[in-house]
Amino acid sequence: TRFEGDDSGDRTPRHTPGMLYSKAEPTPVPEPKLLAWSKELAADLELADPKKEDIDILAGNRLTKSMYPYAACYAGHQFGNWAGQLGDGRAITLGEIHSQKGRFELQLKGAGPTAYSRRADGRAVLRSSVREYLISEAMYFLGVPTTRALSLVSTGEKVLRDMFYNGNAEYEPGAITTRVAPSFLRFGNFEALAAQKDREKLQKLVDWTIAEFYPHIKGEDPVLTWFKEVVLKTANLMVEWQRVGFVHGVMNTDNMSILGLTIDYGPFSFLDNYDHNFTPNTTDLPGRRYAFGNQPSIAYWNLGKLANAISILFDDLEPLEEALNSYEEIFWNAYYGMMEKKLGLDKVTLEDKELITQFEKILSSLQPDMTLFYRLLAEVSLEEKDFVHHFSSSFYRELNTPERGDLKDLMENYIKRITKNSIPRKLSAKIMNRNNPRIILRNYLLHQAIEDLEKGDNKRFLRLQEAMKVPYAAEGFDELVQKRPEWATNKAGCSM
Ligand code: AMP
Ligand code: MG
Ligand code: MG
Repeated sequence: TRFEGDDSGDRTPRHTPGMLYSKAEPTPVPEPKLLAWSKELAADLELADPKKEDIDILAGNRLTKSMYPYAACYAGHQFGNWAGQLGDGRAITLGEIHSQKGRFELQLKGAGPTAYSRRADGRAVLRSSVREYLISEAMYFLGVPTTRALSLVSTGEKVLRDMFYNGNAEYEPGAITTRVAPSFLRFGNFEALAAQKDREKLQKLVDWTIAEFYPHIKGEDPVLTWFKEVVLKTANLMVEWQRVGFVHGVMNTDNMSILGLTIDYGPFSFLDNYDHNFTPNTTDLPGRRYAFGNQPSIAYWNLGKLANAISILFDDLEPLEEALNSYEEIFWNAYYGMMEKKLGLDKVTLEDKELITQFEKILSSLQPDMTLFYRLLAEVSLEEKDFVHHFSSSFYRELNTPERGDLKDLMENYIKRITKNSIPRKLSAKIMNRNNPRIILRNYLLHQAIEDLEKGDNKRFLRLQEAMKVPYAAEGFDELVQKRPEWATNKAGCSM
């Protein structure tokens, strides 16, 4: 299916009603330099190491005959409000690669303006591109569904950024990431057509999405079945974010993948201290709509917007509502399944759910470093008496007497439960260490690597790139397995 799009190549910012995309050629840059290349992803794409003319493609300086570069048109709800037409303002799809490993859409992020750039420049700064490149690969190796990143290219061009949170406009080095996913379709693509009341085109897009990305769906109510699968994938993604302590930061419906992938990395951050209220997004204060602990319910809210969009394809809305409302149960089932592994339990009984709630409550109040805490948990001796000592390297502050008591209660309950496990402790610990990462892409580490890179020193960057491939390794990269240092407290995960 070739969708209705605007083939004119006109990149003036505008509304494109009735169009699913606009043709948009990349704008060339002065001095492309390859900073990173994902060998693992390249292998999946069956691509050889890039030569000079390939780097030109990754920089938006060259197109080949088989490419059909375009920017997708979508809409969305941003921070809870209908935002109308949006679209790829700084992403340009070059085309698709079909390999043994499947089908991959390749997209340049930061390659210049499109019809959807509004008043912005279509560029990306090195800072945000490095973040997107490293986090995509980090999430992939963590086992969290995500879009990928193939390359990172500096452009030799300075980009003007108005840092709205401190008011100073600054020039920063520019860079382009090549992003890869089976598809970058978002909830917002469907919302756009629904808002235009274009039932026919919406039906066509849904049918196409099912045929291409959910081909196993056949039978009576394919659209309903498809929506149920989107609910399931989205719930599972939220559980995965909870597992590794990931905060997306901008869960607008235009940043929600129809394939349940983590998409559009901006001011994301992993948790250091375990804080449900943490948001890395300085524009999300004081509402904290997209804070860590809110993500599962925001996903539900976003699914509601998707349901609303596709509701014009239904005569009877009840099954659709039911499917939407199944989210909560699906989420909690998956959540307990995930916590079973995080805690190394053989199963989760009703009583275990209370223990999980106790973990949640006490960790939220003591706020240890989430990552360090769970790795130490797998090592705790069943004879341990001094828990404060055992977990001491994970705490950001000294515990007071009641807090020490809480930790002791929690750990005594945990040890009692582990003693009753039907699996040996060794296996239990192994499961835990396969589900609780040891190395995460901490915000302060990114910050240091970017600072160095801007000065031309890529050692920290390369070290992070390597470390991200082995997030569960028992040893190595010790210098990255530390709690956030004092100086980095309250540093937001600024992006743009
Ligand atoms: P986000 O929430 O960061 O995914 O972006 C929201 C919208 O703003 C999307 O439509 C982006 O394409 C657009 N956008 C963000 N930054 C830029 C930029 N520098 N130039 C053009 N469009 C942008
Ligand atoms: Mg976006
Ligand atoms: Mg963005």
